[in-house]
Amino acid sequence: MEKTFAIIKPNAVKKNCIGKIIAMAEDNGLKVVSARMQNLSSKEAEGFYAEHSQRPFFQSLVKFMTSGPVLLLAFEGENAVEKWRKLMGATDPAKAAPGTIRKLFGDSIEANGTHGSESLTAAQREVAFFFDK
Ligand code: ATP
Ligand code: MG
Repeated sequence: MEKTFAIIKPNAVKKNCIGKIIAMAEDNGLKVVSARMQNLSSKEAEGFYAEHSQRPFFQSLVKFMTSGPVLLLAFEGENAVEKWRKLMGATDPAKAAPGTIRKLFGDSIEANGTHGSESLTAAQREVAFFFDK
């Protein structure tokens, strides 16, 4: 069984869509094994997105991710990393396939509703970053 890490981002929490998003995961064989709702500090958001620190959107992304509560999640399931990425769809909601989470709940390329680990290595790092304390 594989684990992946997910975040329901501030825009999706504000829109009252936590339940709908988790239901999509559960209906596709993913099980919530860890969850915590919190406001991210700038330090946490910067650390989590450190790989993007040189990108032009970094400061804006950190500001968005700290703008309200998020739901941190670990999902477990067969092929969980790829399964969750597929359910989310493309980074830019405008380019995401119909029926995907980002198409349904994303507002912009930045406020795209959810995060999902891009690889098993990233998943292990990200689960540890938020849940192994
Ligand atoms: P995530 O890592 O959140 O699952 P992703 O792997 O699809 O998304 P990344 O390229 O890792 O996309 O970007 C991380 C996050 O940075 C995106 O989810 C989005 O919130 C934001 N982002 C990415 N590209 C842009 C951009 N061009 N402008 C503004 N924000 C962006
Ligand atoms: Mg990414």
